Amino acid sequence: MEPLRPVISLVPLGGLGEIGRNLMAIECGEDIVVVDCGLMFPEQEMLGIDLVIPDVTWLMERVQRVRGIVLTHAHEDHIGALPYVLPRLPVPVYGTSLTLGFLRNKLKEHKLLDSTDLHTVRAGDTVQLGAIAVEWIHITHSVPDACSLALHTPEGVIIHTGDFKIDQTPVQGAPPDLARLARLGDDGVLLLLSDSTNAEHDGTTPSERRVGEGLAPLFAAAPGRILMATFASNISRLQQAIDAAVDCGRKCFIVGRSMLNNVRVGQELGFLRTPDIFVSPKQHASVPDDELAVLCTGAQGEPMSALSRIAAGEHPMVQLHEGDTVIISANPIPGNEEAVHRTINNLYRRGARVFNSSKHHVHASGHASREELKLMLTLTRPKYFVPVHGEYRHLAIHADIAASVGIARDHILPVDNGTVIDIDADGIHRRGQRVPAGYVYVDGLSIDEAGDVVLRDRRLLAQDGVVIVALTVERSTGAVIAGPDLISRGFIEDSATDNLFDEARAHTLSLVDKLNPDAEWSVWQAAIHEGLSRFLYSRTRRRPMILPVVTEV
Ligand SMILES: [Zn+2]
Ligand SMILES: [Zn+2]
Repeated sequence: MEPLRPVISLVPLGGLGEIGRNLMAIECGEDIVVVDCGLMFPEQEMLGIDLVIPDVTWLMERVQRVRGIVLTHAHEDHIGALPYVLPRLPVPVYGTSLTLGFLRNKLKEHKLLDSTDLHTVRAGDTVQLGAIAVEWIHITHSVPDACSLALHTPEGVIIHTGDFKIDQTPVQGAPPDLARLARLGDDGVLLLLSDSTNAEHDGTTPSERRVGEGLAPLFAAAPGRILMATFASNISRLQQAIDAAVDCGRKCFIVGRSMLNNVRVGQELGFLRTPDIFVSPKQHASVPDDELAVLCTGAQGEPMSALSRIAAGEHPMVQLHEGDTVIISANPIPGNEEAVHRTINNLYRRGARVFNSSKHHVHASGHASREELKLMLTLTRPKYFVPVHGEYRHLAIHADIAASVGIARDHILPVDNGTVIDIDADGIHRRGQRVPAGYVYVDGLSIDEAGDVVLRDRRLLAQDGVVIVALTVERSTGAVIAGPDLISRGFIEDSATDNLFDEARAHTLSLVDKLNPDAEWSVWQAAIHEGLSRFLYSRTRRRPMILPVVTEV
């Protein structure tokens, strides 16, 4: 018997079995629509790697059938890979105004703005992409202007929730358009793809507004300066910090290019109400401590971020004062706990008072908890259900939640990246053959280096080789006791490296000279990685993968 022709195929290339780099391709007949195209920050052990993005080989092989990339919201794990993917997959991109506002900043840095076909949509709009009509539906999340999507296909309606929580009192914009989701449910939904990030959390996720209630008393009572760290994209959180600052008469100083850019976009597009309270880097030093709030990135303990540099006493503009109040307004993403704790330890060492989400109401998740996930399922009443956005246990637990509200077990299919799902007249199935969905690494100069960003996949990495730089440092003084020794594999001819490596050793020593012995090792490693990478590129036009190994005694 001939197998049935699939009517809908799902090709998950990121975000299933992991947190981050979300990308779901949906194929219906001759048409392919891509939902989101995000990045993932590398795990600590991926030394020398800046970013991880999805493998889009499968899409590149079918580029003439890809009708567009449709975006749910403005977070990095949904839009961050576009500057690297669009040159290989030049297709139109659709998103709401804030989402495209953030994206434009990135494309500008990569000199891709002019060559990209961007289309702004609003919640309620529908765009016809081949035989698929994509409808944007207003939803709430930790960034404004977020949407769920309804893909109206000839075979039925597919709802992709994007990231969401059901926030009835959002800081910006309207509550979620549950009425529209319910109407789609009444008319019949073939398939629901829903956010699983918080499937382990009982009950419902607190409203974003609760955070403002937690921040206000901290801002009002702080004896010195306030430093608040959060995600650069979290416009709602920044709004609440700005409101709290206004209420107690503090000026705001924003540290970090990404946050500054996002605030500017938020202001321009009307997503941020900002009275005239911002001060420039020059002005901020003259503002009395109890009249200043500093907003910065680094809530995840990222080694080169503003907060961890401030905590290490390494920041060029902001030094902590005894009695300053530091608010970390985020939960550590799994895997980042150690880095966050290191940062908090350093903050306490410098005499700061630290408030973080584990003890104080200074953070609310942007993702739906179990009761909200159930509500999404019962409103839309899909025939089939595929959990998305989460590690495999989140997907499996979300599958159980779906079964608990009455979806038939054989209509629920949790899968990992690269496993193709077919829906045909006979049901929902895993296709035996997988598609490539591994990590693609972005390395080279830091992403902050506008205009000189290099995409490196594993193939290129192999071509340019690896350089290991090993040195032993006395912890108390920062003096180099042994090394640096350079070892290379597959970089350039051994005979050609002698002089080059002598210079590279001297260059490494000069880099180390400039480092503060108190700084964290991760700062040392990052500085050596970046400095040596630049040096070798300037001499060889190659970008080997650089692995700094710093041993302390
Ligand atoms: Zn998100
Ligand atoms: Zn996300």
